[in-house]
Amino acid sequence: MAFEHPITIALSKGRIFKDSMPLLGYAGIEPLDDPETSRKLILDTNHPNVRLLIIRATDVPTYVQWGAADMGVAGKDVLLEHGGEGIYEPLDLRIARCRMMVAGPLGWQPGGGRLRVATKYVNSARTYYAGLGRQVDIIKLYGSMELAPLVGLSDLIVDLVESGNTLKANHLEPREHIMDISSRLIVNRAAWKTKHKTVMRIIEQLREVVEAENA
Ligand code: ATP
Ligand code: MG
Repeated sequence: MAFEHPITIALSKGRIFKDSMPLLGYAGIEPLDDPETSRKLILDTNHPNVRLLIIRATDVPTYVQWGAADMGVAGKDVLLEHGGEGIYEPLDLRIARCRMMVAGPLGWQPGGGRLRVATKYVNSARTYYAGLGRQVDIIKLYGSMELAPLVGLSDLIVDLVESGNTLKANHLEPREHIMDISSRLIVNRAAWKTKHKTVMRIIEQLREVVEAENA
């Protein structure tokens, strides 16, 4: 497949890279290096005008918003925190799937006071509790949310849950399901216009393989 326009795709290493590779491979894009072993932040591919940027998951929407990357792969959790400005979200890739949940100590019951909720997902948590009409204090953390209730920083956490094993290991249990999470293909709004043909071709190929894999 030819790529008429130069295309830069931003994604994070770990589960998103691992799960994206078969999909991008189907679209004819194969990196020449493995980000888990290479220290390169820009990976060349089998196509001279297609390259991959390897960045932190939470930074992917920012690179795409500002056009430093034309496209990217980002979790819905991350997109909701970013806000989505300057970004189109044309395709659910249905990879890196998990659930955003409220969790708390095993058997814990709310008292009378105002609840404290620790989370990395401040926007999503605020929207969720506002929708329920519940007043809570939201405490912003950057990781290891499971610790917060164990040491009295918060009553509850809002976090991503896959198997529930991390919660269980910390004597926590899932309490409320907020939403299902998966990773999305995102596209810079300007690139959508100026590189339309190439962008559309990549989207259509990815759509094909995602539908085949989830049929
Ligand atoms: P970092 O681990 O570098 O602090 P991160 O947690 O955002 O950043 P990853 O752990 O690679 O990075 O997660 C990337 C994305 O994968 C998340 O934004 C989310 O959409 C999804 N994800 C996170 N945890 C899980 C999980 N346990 N199961 C499935 N998908 C997950
Ligand atoms: Mg992580």
